[in-house]
Amino acid sequence: MSSLAIVIGAGVNELVAAHYLARAGRRVLVLDERNAPDDAATEIGWIPPRIVRDLGLERQGLAIHRPDPWVAVPLADGGRLELWHDMARSVEAIRRISPRDAAAWPAFCERMKRLARLFEMLYTAPPPDPVGRELGNLARFAALALRVRGLGRQGIEDLLRLLPMSVADLLDDWFEADALKAVLGAAGIMHLRQGPRSGGTAFRLLHHHVGSPVGVFRPSLSNLRRVLPQLPGIEIRRGAEVAGITVRECGVAGVVLTGGEEIPALLVVSGADPRRTLLALVDPGWLDPDVVRAVWRIRCRGVVARVTLALDREPGFSALAVAPSLDFIERAYDDAKYGRVSRAPFLEARADGAGADGRHRVDVHVQYAPYALADGEWDEARRTALGDLVVKILSQHVPHVGAAVVERSVLSPRDLEDAYGFPEGQAHHVELTLDQALWMRPLPGWARYRTPISGLYLCGAGTHPGGGVSGISGYNAARAIIRDFRRGRCT
Ligand SMILES: Cc1cc2nc3c(=O)[nH]c(=O)nc-3n(C[C@H](O)[C@H](O)[C@H](O)COP(=O)(O)OP(=O)(O)OC[C@H]3O[C@@H](n4cnc5c(N)ncnc54)[C@H](O)[C@@H]3O)c2cc1C
Repeated sequence: MSSLAIVIGAGVNELVAAHYLARAGRRVLVLDERNAPDDAATEIGWIPPRIVRDLGLERQGLAIHRPDPWVAVPLADGGRLELWHDMARSVEAIRRISPRDAAAWPAFCERMKRLARLFEMLYTAPPPDPVGRELGNLARFAALALRVRGLGRQGIEDLLRLLPMSVADLLDDWFEADALKAVLGAAGIMHLRQGPRSGGTAFRLLHHHVGSPVGVFRPSLSNLRRVLPQLPGIEIRRGAEVAGITVRECGVAGVVLTGGEEIPALLVVSGADPRRTLLALVDPGWLDPDVVRAVWRIRCRGVVARVTLALDREPGFSALAVAPSLDFIERAYDDAKYGRVSRAPFLEARADGAGADGRHRVDVHVQYAPYALADGEWDEARRTALGDLVVKILSQHVPHVGAAVVERSVLSPRDLEDAYGFPEGQAHHVELTLDQALWMRPLPGWARYRTPISGLYLCGAGTHPGGGVSGISGYNAARAIIRDFRRGRCT
C-alpha cells in the first residue's frame, strides 16, 4: 500500500492522521493553504497517552503545560477564587467563599470524573453505529454498555440527567457561590452560541473535563502544534491551497490546487471543515441532494474573538476568568442572541510566560462576539473598540495590565475565518452542541470519518470527538482508513 495519500490541512488532527497513515505504509503528502506553521504557541486539549506513545512525541520534545491554579476568578469584594490541581487546596480556597460548597466539591469532582472517564473511552474510537450489525460494532456497543453499567446506579442517573441539562441547572444543584458556578459554567459554553441556561451545556462541561485530573475543568496546553510537523515520514507543502477534490465514478481521484496543479491520489483525507470539503472542494453534484441540504444545515456559528496582548511585565496570573456569575454570562449571551457584541463579555486570559524578547504574551478568549453582526460588519473601528473593552475589563481586575500593554492584536470571528479557515470563525469547525456530537458529528450517521465518496475521508475538528481534544479526530480517522485498506474498501 504505497500509493499516495493526500491530507488537506496541517493542523494537529491532519498531522496526526498523516503520521499514522505513513506508519501504515502510505506515502503521505500534506497540503496546507497557509504559508507558515501556526503562530499559536500552544494547542488546547487532551492528547491521549496512546498517541504520545505511538508517535514518540515525548522524544520529539512534547511539553504538556498544566497551569496551576488552573483558573483564578476575581471576586466581587476583592481577592480571587483560585482552583488548583491539589484537591485540598481548592477545598480551602472554596471554603473562604462558601463552607457548604467546599464540602460538596470533592464529591462533585469525583462524580464528574467518573462520567468523563466514560467519555475518554468513547472519544478514542469512532462511536459505535447505533444500527450497525457488524460484529466489531456490536462488540463496541457491548463494551460501552458494560462501562455504563459499571458506573452503578448513581453514575447512570448522573449520566442520564446531565446530558440534556443546562450547565446552570447542574451547578445550581450542587453549589451556591456565584463565582464557583460561573467559572465552571463557562466551561459549558466555550465556543457555543448558547448561554449557561441552554439545554445540553452540561455535556460541554464534561467534554472539557475529559483527560484532565479530578477537579480540573480546563484542558491542558501543549506544544503539539510545533512538535508534529517536525516528525519525519511525511511531506508537508505549505502555501498549497486545495481548490478542488477530483471525483470520478469510482470515487476520489485527486486534488487540484489553486493555480491549476493536479495531484492524483485515490485517498484524500480532509481536515478542512465538512461544509468546505463537501460543498466547495467537491462538486456537490456528486452527492445526494438530501446530503447537500444536511451539510448546509450544519451549524458553525462562531462567537469568539481572540485578543492577544504583549505586556512588558508579568501579568500576575496564568489563567484568569472574568465571569462573576452565571447571570453575567447569560446576559453576555443575550447580546449575541440578537447579533450584538456583548457589552460585558466573558473573558478568559491565559499567560504564556516571557518570550525571547522579554515580553509576556496574554491570549484572551472573548465571548460573545458573533460572526454575523445585526448592525454592520467587523471593521477596524469595531476591532479597536473590542480591544479597548478587553484591556479595560482586565485592568479592573489586574490594575497594572493597562499600562503594561505594548502591542495588541484583535481577531474577530471573521478574521479567524480568513486566517485559520475556521468556518464562520468557529474554532471547532462544527459547533459542539449535544445534537452535533458523538455519532451525530458532523451529521447523524456520518461519525465514522467516511463520506459518501469512496476514498474521501474527513479527519478535522468537525468530526467526532471534535475540538478541544488534540489530535483524536485525526487518530480515529486514520484507524478507520487503515481498517478500510485491510478490507480492500479503498486502495
Ligand atoms: C488560533 C487558534 C485558536 C484556537 N482556539 C481554540 C480554543 O480556544 N479552544 C479550543 O478548544 N481549541 C482551539 N483551537 C484548536 C481548534 O479548535 C482545533 O481543535 C484544532 O486546531 C485542531 O483542529 P484541526 O487540526 O482539525 O484543524 P485546524 O487547526 O483548523 O487546521 C485545518 C488546516 O487546514 C487548512 N485548510 C483548510 N482548507 C484547506 C484547503 N482547501 N487547502 C489547504 N489547506 C486547507 C487550514 O489552513 C488549517 O491550517 C484553536 C486553534 C487555533 C489555530
